[in-house]
Amino acid sequence: MTKVQAITTEAPKGGVKFQTVDVEDNGPVELSPMYTGICGTDRGMVTGRLDFAYNPQGQDFIVLGHESICRVKSADSQTGFKAGDLVVPMVRRPGKCINCQAGRQDNCSDGDKKEAGITGKNGFMRESFTDDPEFLVKIDDPSLSRTGVLTEPLKNVVKVFEVVETVSKRSIYASTDSTYHGKKAYVIGTGAEGFLFAMMASEYGFDTRILNRHPVEENRMAICDAFNMEFVDYSKEDRKEKIDLLIDTSGDPATFLKFMRIMNLNSVGIMFGTNGKAPSTEFTGKDIDIMVERNITLAGSVDAAKTHYEKAASYLSRWNARNSRVLSSMITSEKEPSETSVFTDRNPESIKTVIKWK
Ligand code: NAP
Ligand code: ZN
Repeated sequence: MTKVQAITTEAPKGGVKFQTVDVEDNGPVELSPMYTGICGTDRGMVTGRLDFAYNPQGQDFIVLGHESICRVKSADSQTGFKAGDLVVPMVRRPGKCINCQAGRQDNCSDGDKKEAGITGKNGFMRESFTDDPEFLVKIDDPSLSRTGVLTEPLKNVVKVFEVVETVSKRSIYASTDSTYHGKKAYVIGTGAEGFLFAMMASEYGFDTRILNRHPVEENRMAICDAFNMEFVDYSKEDRKEKIDLLIDTSGDPATFLKFMRIMNLNSVGIMFGTNGKAPSTEFTGKDIDIMVERNITLAGSVDAAKTHYEKAASYLSRWNARNSRVLSSMITSEKEPSETSVFTDRNPESIKTVIKWK
């Protein structure tokens, strides 16, 4: 056991403390987080809204945090890591099912996996921790020492595009020149995940729109310009174009259905955002007709595998090399670990808030 300062909550009850705790050692690589990102899951845990969160066995708290970029403090040479390396630790840890045993705990088939900072395993919001090299993703590009904190949220996006490529094979989905040029992608929601999805859709060559029900501030508009995507305030304009790829990060069923109803023939829709508290809406016989007659494929997607973390890091490197200001403008505020009010007070202009550890 090691004593460290950490940001903790009591799952699933909530609350937040920056305190010294005794935590277990988990492997031969010693890591210091440089930045940890805050997302809706961390806020949901602190406000006691995530019923499925639970403390590690034998503990009455859980260390928060699943988005991070860390520096290796020490490692023995057989681990493949050395002091100074940049790494992103993986969130999900395998159980015993066939998917988990094949390194695909993102597709766990019995629900027995654990998630750092969420379900049964301490997270990364602490001064230091030790981990197993199997669950560490090496980041080779030193320019990602801060924006590399976006690797974890971007790995979800990389997996979704793999899912889109898989399920869209049921018909010919690409344009007649074999690319996605001219195909329309709509991304609902303008948070960090929404922007990362829209950036990736644009990278794939889709004609990309990112949507919300209100206008967004200048910083978000500048990211849209840099990635050649259009922001649409759908409360003010009603688009009639057919959507080939719909990605929802709002978790709002009425909004998802509104856009599903204008999906194209042979199109793909991905449900990614979750909001158990969203108001119910009516799914009608006409909606089933739309799905059937247009061969629409809808899929949910959660988390991602190590391969997706690695690909996410290479997209970040590429985007950073192209325009380093854009990625850093996604990180809209930086806090000290003691500023725990950041989990309860949310600035609507913020895209990604991070905690700086050293
Ligand atoms: P976020 O910052 O809260 O983003 C959610 C976005 O959706 C916000 O921009 C919000 O706008 C917008 N929104 C809410 N209702 C809307 C509506 N009716 N129409 C249009 N936009 C609407 O969260 P995030 O970090 O980007 O994550 C997005 C979602 O993905 C969250 O639900 C999160 O829990 C989920 N998630 C899923 C996975 C997975 O593996 N599937 C992984 C990570 C996160 P306002 O802020 O203006 O309300
Ligand atoms: Zn499993």
